[in-house]
Amino acid sequence: MGPPGSGKGTQGMRLAQHFGIEHISVGDLLRDEVDSGTELGKHVAATMERGELVPDDVVTEMVTPHVARAAAKGGFILDGYPRTLTQAVSARQEADSLNVEADVVVWLDVSPHTLIKRLAERATEEDRPDDTAETISRRLQVYEEATRPLLDYYQGRGLLVTVGAEDDPEHVHAAVVAAIHGKLGD
Ligand code: AMP
Repeated sequence: MGPPGSGKGTQGMRLAQHFGIEHISVGDLLRDEVDSGTELGKHVAATMERGELVPDDVVTEMVTPHVARAAAKGGFILDGYPRTLTQAVSARQEADSLNVEADVVVWLDVSPHTLIKRLAERATEEDRPDDTAETISRRLQVYEEATRPLLDYYQGRGLLVTVGAEDDPEHVHAAVVAAIHGKLGD
C-alpha cells in the first residue's frame, strides 16, 4: 500500500518475481477493462479519469476471483487494494470465506514532494489519463482521506510494516524484502 507515485506497481512486480507469486494490481485490472471497452470498463472510466475511487463493491467483486486463483497457486501480492476501510472489511470477509490470510501489509512511505515529482514524470512517460496536474492533486487528496486511515487498521491487526520508499527502486526492493522477512520472522 501507499499513495499514488509511491512505487506500488514497480515494487509489487519485483516482489512477485522475488517470491515467485502472482502480482495482482487492481489499477492494472481496471485499466485493462477500460482499454478493452467492457461494460465494467465503460462504467468506471470517467471515475478513474477524475482521480476518484471506483465503488467499493465493484472493486471487491472484480479482485476476489483473482485472489482465489492466485492463493490456490501459492500466493499473491495485492497492489492497490484495499484502499478504503469498507474494502478492508470486505477483503477480510472474502479472505475468511476463501480460507486465505494476509501475512504482511507493506506501506511505502514517500514525502509529498517526491510523489508530485514522480507523478509528473510518469505523466510524460506513460501517458496515463489520470496523471494530469488536476487529477494528481485529487488522487493525493483521495488517498489522504480514504486510504491513510488503513494505516491504523493494519497496525491494529499487527500486519503493518512501513518502508521508506524515497530511494531508487533497487534499494527500496531490498528494504521491502528485508522488512517482510523481519515481519515473518524468517
Ligand atoms: P493505481 O494504478 O493503483 O494508482 O489506480 C488507478 C485508479 O484506479 C485509481 O485512481 C482509482 O480510480 C482506481 N482504483 C485502483 N484501485 C482501487 C481500489 N482499491 N478502489 C477503488 N478504486 C481503485
